[in-house]
Amino acid sequence: MSRPRKIRRVSKPPICSRFKPVGIPARLLDVVDLSVDEYEALRLADYEGLEHKDAAEKMGISRPTFTRLIEQARKKIASGIIEGKEISIGGGDFQFMHHMVRCRSCGTLSNYSQQVPIKCPECDEDDLENLNMYYQGGRGRNRDRWSHRR
Ligand SMILES: [Zn+2]
Repeated sequence: MSRPRKIRRVSKPPICSRFKPVGIPARLLDVVDLSVDEYEALRLADYEGLEHKDAAEKMGISRPTFTRLIEQARKKIASGIIEGKEISIGGGDFQFMHHMVRCRSCGTLSNYSQQVPIKCPECDEDDLENLNMYYQGGRGRNRDRWSHRR
């Protein structure tokens, strides 16, 4: 019997889900699909600089699993840059631990572990966009713990 696959913990959604080479129409580009859990592995190891052991713990996975994940992520990003492909982030077995909210009025990004506020903490406008919702497609495994209030 195989053990059930663990849902990977991802701190918060990427602020941008698509990266495209300049000057080439999107229809002519090949796309590299980076999963949200691969993105998180890259963020923890290469952006935050965590050891694999600590990063694996944050994501709730084993160290060998983390190492495989970060290797896949690096390979994909490298092929995107070297081969001039679009890089698209989405999908994967994960759960967000925070909401990432962008204010459409002033551009402020804020993240919340609990309930998302109705108004922007900076400008007090109520035109907030919850970035988590862009990543909820995937394989339908994103178990968002909190509802969006708007
Ligand atoms: Zn604002």
